[in-house]
Amino acid sequence: MIKINQVSGIPLHYARLTNHPYGTRGEQRYFLIEENFFNVLEKALYEVFENCPLGFPEVITTAGIFVNKPGQHSHGKAFDLDAIFWKDKTLVSMNFVHQKELYLGIESFLRKHFGIVLNYYYPNHKDHWHVDTSVPVDYNENSKSETLYLQLVLKYIYKEEILVDGIWGRQTARVVREVFNKLKIDIPITNKKNYLQFLEVTGKIAFKLCEERISPTHLLDNLTEVIDDLPEQNRIVVREAFNSFLDHNDTLQWLNNIKESHDYDIDRLINSFII
Ligand SMILES: [Zn+2]
Repeated sequence: MIKINQVSGIPLHYARLTNHPYGTRGEQRYFLIEENFFNVLEKALYEVFENCPLGFPEVITTAGIFVNKPGQHSHGKAFDLDAIFWKDKTLVSMNFVHQKELYLGIESFLRKHFGIVLNYYYPNHKDHWHVDTSVPVDYNENSKSETLYLQLVLKYIYKEEILVDGIWGRQTARVVREVFNKLKIDIPITNKKNYLQFLEVTGKIAFKLCEERISPTHLLDNLTEVIDDLPEQNRIVVREAFNSFLDHNDTLQWLNNIKESHDYDIDRLINSFII
């Protein structure tokens, strides 16, 4: 076990305290970590930020590494990633709903290094990613967490109609065939080489999507989803206020003037990534 307060040169902070609550930059701390696992973590984060259009961040907050709870944490061989802070931008993992492209870009690269990645959709992981190396990197149709990731990128990055339920079925198999065909990646996805290729290109496309100008209509869609996620008593009043804004004549005119061409064309993007 070694003691660290940074990874790949990025200061490691803790923000799960009354005076440094979740979602803030917190304060830098030392964490115990198993050495081989630390090497994987360094390599993984280096690759994430080397590809990320925002570059290397100023701070990463973690909920913990060596933690007294069952599983890989008790060996210092698991990492909980709460949030990432760049100079002018922040990704708090809880904000998945309106930062899907950035979130899924990061996760795609994490998956190239960690056999276990538990995300926002996995029970009890809305506020952090859990990563560990207890199983090898590959795609297993029976894995709920891997299938959730797969369905999320098919839906939000590749814009396919698909149910996100973490269960591999006929629909998921069909959409994978279609998208892999467009990407010119061989199937099956259970072949490690094909899976790694998919992770890499998906990460790059997701990052490209964050860079492209996001249209006001896309932001309005995000806002609608955030409202749908609110507890019921708040949801009704916020939705009514939002609807009266949308129904206002000037808003309607403004929305009509926004050309659909601002919305991204996924097929064009895919083609720019394959030869
Ligand atoms: Zn964890």
